[in-house]
Amino acid sequence: MKHEVPIAPQAVAFVTLGCAKNEVDTAHMRARVQEAGYAVVEDPACADAVVVNTCSFIQAATEESIEAVLEAADLPRVAAGEAALVVAGCMPARYGADLEAELPEARAFVPCAGEEDIVAVLTDAIGPAGGAEGAAQAQVSGAGALEPAVPFAYVKISDGCDRFCSYCTIPYIRGRYHSFPLAAIRAEVATHVAAGMREIVLIAQDTGRWGTDFDEPSTLAELVSALAEEFPTTWFRIMYLQPEGVTDEYLDALAMHANVCNYLDIPLQHVDADILRAMNRTGSRAEFQALIARILTRVPDATLRTTLIAGFPGETDEQFEDMCDFVEEGLFDYVGVFAYSREDGTRAADLPNQVDDDEKADRAQRLRDLADAVCTPRVAARIGREMDVLVEGAEEDGQLYGRAMCQAPEVDGVTYFERGQVGEIVRVKIEDTLLYEMEGA
Ligand code: SF4
Repeated sequence: MKHEVPIAPQAVAFVTLGCAKNEVDTAHMRARVQEAGYAVVEDPACADAVVVNTCSFIQAATEESIEAVLEAADLPRVAAGEAALVVAGCMPARYGADLEAELPEARAFVPCAGEEDIVAVLTDAIGPAGGAEGAAQAQVSGAGALEPAVPFAYVKISDGCDRFCSYCTIPYIRGRYHSFPLAAIRAEVATHVAAGMREIVLIAQDTGRWGTDFDEPSTLAELVSALAEEFPTTWFRIMYLQPEGVTDEYLDALAMHANVCNYLDIPLQHVDADILRAMNRTGSRAEFQALIARILTRVPDATLRTTLIAGFPGETDEQFEDMCDFVEEGLFDYVGVFAYSREDGTRAADLPNQVDDDEKADRAQRLRDLADAVCTPRVAARIGREMDVLVEGAEEDGQLYGRAMCQAPEVDGVTYFERGQVGEIVRVKIEDTLLYEMEGA
């Protein structure tokens, strides 16, 4: 009797650099290749193809991505030509043919806009997946099972950006702003919820603009309300809301739905009107103060995060001091600070009066220290409050940790407590804090 020999599926590993938006892109590529029958493995050393999904929105990110690509190129199977190296994401989108000339180690390049074709690229690079038997075997053996260990997921609601801030490469890398349809977002959320995710973090370069580019325009408030009502036991959190996107309709949607985190992440970047104009942005210190007042009128318990850039070309000592004073007002719970990065191909790179690198680094550090001094007492002021916390996992010593609605994943610290199962939402009384971390029982 003839026995069928199962065909082993070709194995693909992903290495992801950069932000949560890139992680979502990797998850989409991973789902596509799994569907096509490839096994997705965690260890790049065992893979037949290693896909490095790169980030290059600033120089430092590009350098980190190149390092990751060269590291993958040095893997024994890749170096021996037995496995293919594929470079995907922002770096091929930003540098195109120049990158291909610089990285002969790579067998293929997949810019952001081409990620839907990842299966065709892999088929070209390493051949077909290995047949349905192989795919089935991969699922049974668990080789393709890469379930995330945390009970939250990022969902992208749009891509690209039309704002063309003068320092930013994103519109050139990711293209024009385009909202994803409600049905597609809903389906992705449903898949995550069915897989046990308790929190969905909606992300984009500019979440507040969602729906404005549809033939029948819609709004972020409508999207959030629809999702919150359809998935009432799931937390929703919205990141990267530009100041113009903070409409009263949106604030009311936050206030109205208990499962939408009262959390606003509003990148201001600066507070000086002249610097903002040079950034091709709008606003001023007074306008931002008024914005925060309006938010707190409608959502009194809102948690507020922002990001600021220090050392933009032409930033005077006075303008920098003004931004420090604004931070000292203590309007925000969390402040992310970046030193301006001079990026080729952007308008700001050609502006006169570039600030010296050391001075930029000093200003950024001063602003960070100031933000810590102002924000950590706000975290400490939560002592004594009871809050819901999503259980995320346990440290090696068994100590449980998770996040409250006032803590976004990966940026705001975590809460430690004593009881609960991963994926549960438990009630915790905050008893102590250490910088941005909270502890309770
Ligand atoms: S809004 Fe954000 S992504 Fe868009 S251009 Fe400005 S900084 Fe870049």
